[in-house]
Order: sequence, then C-alpha cells, then structure tokens
Amino acid sequence: MVQSKQVIVVGAGLSGLCCARTLQRAGVEAHIYEASDGVGGRVRTDTWEGFLLDRGFQVLFTAYPAIREEMDLDALRLQAFTPGAIICRASEKHMLVDPRRAPAHLLAAAMSPLMSVSDKLRAFQLAMTIGKRTVPEIFTMEDQTLGAYLQKSGFSGMFLDQIVRPFFGGIFLERQLETSVRMFAFVFKMLSEGDTAVPEAGMGALGQQLADSLAPGTLHLNSPVEALLWQGERITGIRLQDGTEIIADRVVLATQADVAARLMGREFPVHWRTSTTAYFALPEPLDTGKLLVLFPEAQYINHAVMMSNVAPSYAPPGQHLLSVTLLGQTDLPDEEIVRRITTDLLLSFPEARPDTWRLLRIYRIPWAQFAQPAGIWEQLPDADTGIPGLILAGEITQSSSLHGALTAGRVAAQRAMA
Ligand SMILES: Cc1cc2nc3c(=O)[nH]c(=O)nc-3n(C[C@H](O)[C@H](O)[C@H](O)COP(=O)(O)OP(=O)(O)OC[C@H]3O[C@@H](n4cnc5c(N)ncnc54)[C@H](O)[C@@H]3O)c2cc1C
Repeated sequence: MVQSKQVIVVGAGLSGLCCARTLQRAGVEAHIYEASDGVGGRVRTDTWEGFLLDRGFQVLFTAYPAIREEMDLDALRLQAFTPGAIICRASEKHMLVDPRRAPAHLLAAAMSPLMSVSDKLRAFQLAMTIGKRTVPEIFTMEDQTLGAYLQKSGFSGMFLDQIVRPFFGGIFLERQLETSVRMFAFVFKMLSEGDTAVPEAGMGALGQQLADSLAPGTLHLNSPVEALLWQGERITGIRLQDGTEIIADRVVLATQADVAARLMGREFPVHWRTSTTAYFALPEPLDTGKLLVLFPEAQYINHAVMMSNVAPSYAPPGQHLLSVTLLGQTDLPDEEIVRRITTDLLLSFPEARPDTWRLLRIYRIPWAQFAQPAGIWEQLPDADTGIPGLILAGEITQSSSLHGALTAGRVAAQRAMA
C-alpha cells in the first residue's frame, strides 16, 4: 500500500514531537511514525501500583531556554527540588546548598567542610563568569574536559571527588569528568538560573503536553520505520516494518542517533552513557527533605532521591517513593542490585528499615545520553543531511538534553520548510 504525506517525522521523542508541532503551527501537514506504543521517547513515566515511575531518574531545568519556549510550565505544575545536595560519606552527612538560591541553608553552606574557603571563592567566581555568558557563547568557548578545566581553575581534589564527581556524574552519567566543559558550563548556568523540577504527573507529561497540541491523526504509534525510500539521490518517503510505503515531500529523522545513522547509511559519534534506577515503596520517608542525596564514596550508588518528598503525587497516600540510581547498566539480577543498594544506603541511613521496603521496579537504561567529551561538537551532524528530501532532528544535532532535543526539533522543522 502506498500513501502520500507532506512531511513525515520518524520518532515521537521530544524532538520529533516539537518538530511536528512547529510544522503544523506553520500550516504544514506533518505525520509522526513512532516505533513504540507511546510518545516521549526516553522521557516516559509508568504508573505502577499508584506510583509514578519515570523511566530512569530524570529532571528538567526550568532555565532551559527551549523548555521555556516550547512548554507550558504552569500546566505541568512543576514540583521543585531544594537547590543543593546532601553528601553522604559513610555515616557522615553534609548539606551543600547554593546559599543564593536557598538562603535558609546559608549557615550549613558556610560551615561545609567539603569545600575549603578557596573552593567557595572559586565556585563563586565560576558562577559569575558563566553567568555572564549567553548559551551560544558557552557552546563556542574553548573546549576541554571538565576535569582539566576545574583543575586549572584551582579547585581542590576534595571538592572534585566529594562534590563534582557524584553531582555532575549523576547529570552526565560518568564520574571521570571527561565531559566537555561547554556542557558543564551550560548545565551550571541552568542550575544557577532556575529550578530543578519534575512535573506533577511525572516527566512523561512533557511529551504528552506536546502530543496533545498536535492535530488529530498526526500520531502513528507501533509503526517502526524499516527503511527510507530513495528515488535516485533523493529521499521520497519511508517503508514501515509491515511493508507499508508512505511517500512524502520531506522526511525528518528524529530517532535516537544510532537508528538514524543506520537508516541513512552513515556513522555518527555515538557512545551511549547508561544508568540503572531502582524504585522502592517505603512506609516512612528517609529524612532528606527535597534534596538530591549523593554518595561520593559508596561502592555502587551514585545518587538517591525521596521522589515523593519532592512531588507527593509520585506516591499514593500514606506511601513514599525512593529512587536510587547507579551509573552504568547493570545486568546483575534484581536481588543483587537491591542487596548492593541497601548495603550502601544503610551506611549513611542506619535508621532505615529496608525490611519494610518494597521493590517496585528496576529500570536498566541502555541509551540514556550520548557521551559529550571535549571536542565532540565539531563532529555532531547538522540538521541539513546533504541528501535532498532528508532532514535530521534528534538530540544528536545539538546536545544530549531536553533542551537539545527540543531545539533540534525546531531547527529541523525550519529546514523542512526552507
Ligand atoms: C535516564 C535518563 C536520564 C536523563 N536525564 C536527563 C536530565 O536530567 N536532563 C536532561 O536535559 N536530559 C536528560 N536525559 C536526556 C534526554 O532525555 C534526551 O536528550 C532526550 O529525551 C532525547 O530526545 P530525542 O527526541 O532526541 O530522542 P528519543 O527520546 O530517544 O526519541 C527517539 C524516538 O524515536 C523512536 N524510534 C526509534 N527507532 C525508530 C524507528 N525505526 N521507527 C520509528 N520510531 C523510532 C523511539 O522509540 C523514540 O520514541 C536523560 C535521559 C535518560 C534516558
């Protein structure tokens, strides 16, 4: 069977959804073909026994320019974290907060032994320097690894090990500090200029909100695209796995990068960062407030959050939701992951009663983000593929983030209309 459309978008992640919406707002007919059974791509939330479980721990920064421009933040009813973190070193717990953003914790920040006076001064200078730069300026600053940049800036080893590695390790999913300083500066600016939050209905609400604004009939779920259709040098449509062929003026690829590369017959610089998040139902919350909890010295855990403290909607009444994340995608059996997590947690929270906890689910995420080492930016593919009729969207054309995915969708829509 052959059908005909104006623009076909492959993939209903945030990038594909944003692309289709931008096209439709400009009066262009756009259809999305998505392999899975839902929208949002990597950013989805499962409802499980009354709990909201994001597929891997993830948050949004309200300062992301593309989030501000593309999303109705009020409608998401955002639930914000307290800016900062609790750092757990075996039985010692240290509260680290940004005193400008959480003045109630000024004293704790000033007293923190994890940052020397010179680290505190340097952090303040860093915030001033990065704060003055615009996002485009950040993405053209001299590139180097985060580790090299912070060392040259004179930060102590203690600061790097106890704070930077677990905190930014949780964001970039690596603790070696190999990530580009541009990405660090971008995230640092976002953290300083807005809230870290989750929508009341879970992170999946982002994709749902975009999908709700599309014209009826735009979305074709459970429709994996198997191949692109070529006519000479030009792309003229797609073939679905069931053999259906759909002709279009333009095709936009908004899948994850390795799928797009395969469909195009090209190679992209993709090395996936992976993570594992376990969710537990607790009868009583751990005493963490709305703070991220970091474990710089733990053997397995990178970070944990009492999600229901941040967003009570994440747990049914009378119950509490704990999220624990390990870097890397562990193929260990569930029981072993739980044993390792509880061993690590008990060192810092001896009052915890894991015998009263219930494991809800473990998410092993094979492609959370693509690695963004120093120097990667010049290697990222452009939305303009050089192949007539074919445009590339997806985070791979911008940066591995919600901001990158939305921006990529918008840029691809503009190219499709050019
Ligand atoms: C655990 C985790 C934590 C994260 N944390 C953060 C965070 O805190 N902050 C942040 O900014 N970013 C975070 N990210 C990264 C962010 O989620 C991604 O950068 C962004 O969602 C990528 O969106 P995308 O639309 O480019 O790709 P995707 O979301 O991967 O969407 C691609 C879509 O294409 C579909 N598809 C694939 N193959 C086919 C095919 N053959 N035919 C049709 N459809 C196909 C897929 O099913 C999918 O729906 C995190 C990601 C994960 C997984």
